[in-house]
Amino acid sequence: MNIILFGPPGAGKGTQAKKLQDEFNIPQLSTGDIFRAAIKNETPLGLKVKSILDNGELVPDETVVDLVADELSKEKYDDGYILDGFPRTVAQAEAFDEYLKDNDDTLDAFISLSVPEEELVKRILSRGEGRADDTEEKVKTRLKVYRKETKPVLDHYQKQGKVHEVNGLGTIDEIFNRIKSTLK
Ligand code: AMP
Repeated sequence: MNIILFGPPGAGKGTQAKKLQDEFNIPQLSTGDIFRAAIKNETPLGLKVKSILDNGELVPDETVVDLVADELSKEKYDDGYILDGFPRTVAQAEAFDEYLKDNDDTLDAFISLSVPEEELVKRILSRGEGRADDTEEKVKTRLKVYRKETKPVLDHYQKQGKVHEVNGLGTIDEIFNRIKSTLK
């Protein structure tokens, strides 16, 4: 089963992706986690993307697409995966369509978590994960980037009839149960 978990920053993608991973035994691939680990370990990728993440902007499409294709070629993803934080632009979505086609694979579901903007800001500022991009100013940038670059990804998959809208308000378990019932 191949799933994309989509939504604005603070929608709960990471939390829900981890729960799906445990429930269905399918690995989660979070591009944000990969970038943060690379920054922490000061790898060449980390050095390249650090200021981009710190500013709440997007890593160039080519870098992200190459990274995801590389990662997905690992054996652990053979039986499926949950993408969290990718694709984030229409160009990435198109590249991912090509990737699936080249690998004779398909996307099973695109789950879009919807949460009102005021709630997103509140959640991010109170989550206290110590992320450099979780400040009020950077959250504003991230939401602006989301509206401009990422939201159009929703239309891209709507055209393919893959989108399942899930209400992202409520407790973690309530939201998780909604996701599970859309997957049934
Ligand atoms: P996230 O953990 O998904 O909120 O991602 C944190 C940051 O990593 C984003 O603000 C971007 O700077 C970068 N990032 C993660 N995924 C992508 C992506 N698919 N395309 C471009 N930048 C990304």
